[in-house]
Amino acid sequence: MKLLRARVVYPVCGPAIADGAVLVRAGRIVAVGKHRAVRAGSGLRAEDLGDVILMPGLINAHCHLDYTGLRKAILSPRTFTQWIRRINAIKSAVSDADYLAAIRVGIAESVRFGTTSMLNIESFPDLMGRIERPPLRIWWCRELLDVRKPVGESVFRRAQRLPHGWLGGWGMSPHAPYTASVGLYRKAARYCAMRRIPFTTHLAESAEEDAMFRLGSGPLHDLLDSLGRTKRDLGRGSALRGLLEAGALPRGAVLAHMNTLDVADLELLRTHPVAKTFHVVHCPVSHRYFGHPEFSLAALRRAGVRVSLGTDSLASADRLSLFGEMRTARETWPGLDEVELIRMVTVNPAAALRRAGRLGEIVMGAHADLIGLPFAGSVRDAAAAIVAHKTPVTGSWVGGRGVPR
Ligand SMILES: [Zn+2]
Repeated sequence: MKLLRARVVYPVCGPAIADGAVLVRAGRIVAVGKHRAVRAGSGLRAEDLGDVILMPGLINAHCHLDYTGLRKAILSPRTFTQWIRRINAIKSAVSDADYLAAIRVGIAESVRFGTTSMLNIESFPDLMGRIERPPLRIWWCRELLDVRKPVGESVFRRAQRLPHGWLGGWGMSPHAPYTASVGLYRKAARYCAMRRIPFTTHLAESAEEDAMFRLGSGPLHDLLDSLGRTKRDLGRGSALRGLLEAGALPRGAVLAHMNTLDVADLELLRTHPVAKTFHVVHCPVSHRYFGHPEFSLAALRRAGVRVSLGTDSLASADRLSLFGEMRTARETWPGLDEVELIRMVTVNPAAALRRAGRLGEIVMGAHADLIGLPFAGSVRDAAAAIVAHKTPVTGSWVGGRGVPR
């Protein structure tokens, strides 16, 4: 048992609590409220964290730890297609040792900036056996592409298990509709639906991808055409509609980017029985780096879509910090409610990971995944302080255990 006391406890799912406390037993939250009341019920002496906001650990809904070593490696691409050519050239010169180092650095940086869970797209799952147990929950979503060579059936035959003691789980991630075939999407969708594990993909990210699917033309089309990609699924509407109509996206799919949605796509997300269950991930810093078409946040929210934030990789962002992502989102939409923004890095991605009620909020029964931020103000200003926060966190706990830094 552990009793943590803080100047403010910010549960996300309820109002901020001045002089609050959280009681933890066996890694789970068993009580939250005013320090005096929680302490009286527990009979414990609190560990007083002092002038901090204690809040749920943040959840990164889109990350590529593999590419942490590529920070600022590609400066201002003129087009998305140019960036893809550039990253492919750089990747051919990166060794396994470099990738292992990148994963370690990415995990450490994520923890430093308050992330306690993440959906990570893993391009090199064989490397996982060579890293030590991560101190946070990671859903390792295996990246799948078949534009150059087919993906072996064995990937879909065996159930995958994390090494002993690791927190999080597995998932599948067909890369994007221009590099993964409809057949590959379908197999991954079936695999994830059967096992109830996350399915994620990059979708409707760039104007060039949009031109490829809607018009069957443009620079991305030409690049993929030179690799011999089929044209059968092109020129027939948006990639979202194409995949949905082909039954290639499972319920609860986590769709990253979604920058080029038109009115018909938004209507699908609002009304289609499967599309209604999708989660959308926006990566504000990466979005700004590429200069993508404007992200339709207001229209998505009106359509009832749950939006989460992600950092994407450091090949298009500068830091694995969801606080930085919240700040950038705030600059883009100054009128966006702070509470709503905080939900995009807590309860919304928890639902995307199929962990609603267990992650992303301080509530009875949830995992005690917590972070502290320095704060000496009034309880009324807690949400604004969270959104404006810049420095590393003062502490993190995963399953009630302090994470060493
Ligand atoms: Zn990505």
